[in-house]
Amino acid sequence: MFVSIVRVALGVPLRRLFDYRAPLDETLTPEDIGRRVRVGFGTRSLIGVIVALADASEIPDEQLKPVETVLRDLPPLPADWFRLTEFCASYYQTPLGEVMLSTLPAAMRRVDPPKARAARRAPGQPAAQDAPALTGEQRQVLERVAADTADKPGFHAYLLHGVTGSGKTEIYLRLVEQTLTAGKSALLLVPEINLTPQLEARVTARFPDTGLVSLHSDLTDATRTRNWKAALEGRARIVLGTRLAVFTPMPELGLIVVDEEHDASFKQQDGMRYSARDVAVFRARQRDIPIVLGSATPSLESWANATDPDTPARYALLELRARAVTGARLPAVRRIDIRTEKLRDGFSGVLLQAIAQCLERGEQSLIFLNRRGYAPVLACAQCGWVSRCHRCAANLVLHLADGRLRCHHCGFECRVPRACPTCGNQDIQPFGRGTQRLEAVLTERFPQARILRVDRDSAKSRKQWESLLERIHSGDADILVGTQMLAKGHDFPRLTLVGALGADAALFAADWRAPERLFSQLMQVAGRAGRADLPGEVLIQTQFPEHPLYAALVRHDYPAFAAAQLAERRHAGFPPYAYQAMLRAEAPQMADAIAFLATARAWPPAVEHASVTLYDPVPMRLARRANLERAQLLVESPSRRALQAFLSAWNGRLASIKAPSRLRWHLEVDPLEF
Ligand code: ADP
Ligand code: ZN
Ligand code: ZN
Repeated sequence: MFVSIVRVALGVPLRRLFDYRAPLDETLTPEDIGRRVRVGFGTRSLIGVIVALADASEIPDEQLKPVETVLRDLPPLPADWFRLTEFCASYYQTPLGEVMLSTLPAAMRRVDPPKARAARRAPGQPAAQDAPALTGEQRQVLERVAADTADKPGFHAYLLHGVTGSGKTEIYLRLVEQTLTAGKSALLLVPEINLTPQLEARVTARFPDTGLVSLHSDLTDATRTRNWKAALEGRARIVLGTRLAVFTPMPELGLIVVDEEHDASFKQQDGMRYSARDVAVFRARQRDIPIVLGSATPSLESWANATDPDTPARYALLELRARAVTGARLPAVRRIDIRTEKLRDGFSGVLLQAIAQCLERGEQSLIFLNRRGYAPVLACAQCGWVSRCHRCAANLVLHLADGRLRCHHCGFECRVPRACPTCGNQDIQPFGRGTQRLEAVLTERFPQARILRVDRDSAKSRKQWESLLERIHSGDADILVGTQMLAKGHDFPRLTLVGALGADAALFAADWRAPERLFSQLMQVAGRAGRADLPGEVLIQTQFPEHPLYAALVRHDYPAFAAAQLAERRHAGFPPYAYQAMLRAEAPQMADAIAFLATARAWPPAVEHASVTLYDPVPMRLARRANLERAQLLVESPSRRALQAFLSAWNGRLASIKAPSRLRWHLEVDPLEF
């Protein structure tokens, strides 16, 4: 074939590829597919990826621009990376070029990349840490995996359900070891940057001589690029990263692990709204390799896949029921009925007493409230003024620590007024409680205690977070007050008491996923308490002590909770028993947003879509954010295939709907939030 045309994917919001003339002085061959090129686009230059070569184009010759440069600094992106990005483009209804370019490190997409500095020489590595003898349960799990893969090598999807502290990480490490021994590499995904240092330390301690790189958004561009290159070139045998790392090209990939698979952070919330967990499963299937999804509280989707014979994507269930360390037991969970107990500043007498005793014993306690700030709203009792965000349909949250009112949705902030802005009343009052207020209450009650608040305000940067963790570990804190940040995967050795406040709100929330999140958060936060020599206790303040969610929690019975929730979902026709997509529109006027959605709804394509339901357009729960009115339209089908076919046809036509220029819309597949 005489190559005269180069077909290029560009990171622009158009569902097409772009043809360029091949450079005259360079011979391109099919091996160059997957290389990056620099091309002119309008008045700019852009970096794109060569997707195909051709000998002719439909574009008239005189309109074709030549490729400016073929970049040969890297090996071409491999074929399986193409298949993965193509799958995502089609599944998530996103232009291929956008998918491809968005998965590359920023420097790889830049026309003038920063000069790469000389690489990561690792200092003298310590000797490999010995692996502990496996517990009986761990051995069974590994034997099961070994038997499966001996029987039939290739793709196997496992859901590893193990209670907190059951030694799931040890399972990952053993599987990684086997993968490395077989000459392959492993990809480990964690939901949050905050969890990478901990796992990185454990993996490095076990495999000190193996190229391990991490990939997450907190790295400098240069480091990220270097690490990504090491993966692409096959030098990094272990890649540890957050959701975007699922796209890392790895030529010898032999195992994928997704830790804390239930965590909503695996879902990307803008651009291509993908679930890294789901993409990981797809990637494993495509590469024909095993994947392990691990959690103490799996997502109900995964649990259904592992336990419900009616779901199509079957996972094999692996279970660890006991804590790994001999003698360590799960903490006792108790409900405190706050209908009968008088609360003092939000605390029951039982909880205050337990904190006092914990202090006396020199142990740590943790008070969990999933709401940051001092109080969710400031109000005037005289005239009814409340602190509203003027840009959003939401209240401004009182942050007393720095004397600000803040909107948690758009970031607007201002000074706390001294008096009511409408009537001048000087006695304006905070309503409700956030972590700052609990901190203040506890400081007053326990003046001798060292109290540490851990939330997104006190741990803004990675550095701050690490120094907080350091203080917790060194025993430099008696009482921790925190949000779900504290619930995730950390070991706090001296922690023996957990108190949970304000949990009930999630029981009756409009969001039908709220109970799932609540159960998982409480189970995870409870999992922080107790060791072999220091048994733990969890106290939950509630007005609904008989609620089945709490009853299951007391028994540490995730399977019972999950079964009950799945039964409800099946009955209501909710995921995982239905597949959903959401079309959202935002505009300065609600009427425009609704009108756009109504047009979209009235314009179904000519494909067979009998099993697809389009609901009415409705304002979103947060109906205005940053001065934009927001509305959404739910699309649902009991068949994933039918939904996909419908979306492909529909999405192509949405772009041609006439709408005001300031209207923005996007389509989200498998939405988590409503
Ligand atoms: P999980 O990831 O399930 O919460 P971890 O893997 O962090 O649990 O293990 C919890 C604790 O048990 C850790 O301190 C770990 O070192 C220890 N542990 C895990 N497996 C074993 C084992 N086989 N023998 C002794 N200790 C173990
Ligand atoms: Zn007033
Ligand atoms: Zn706002």
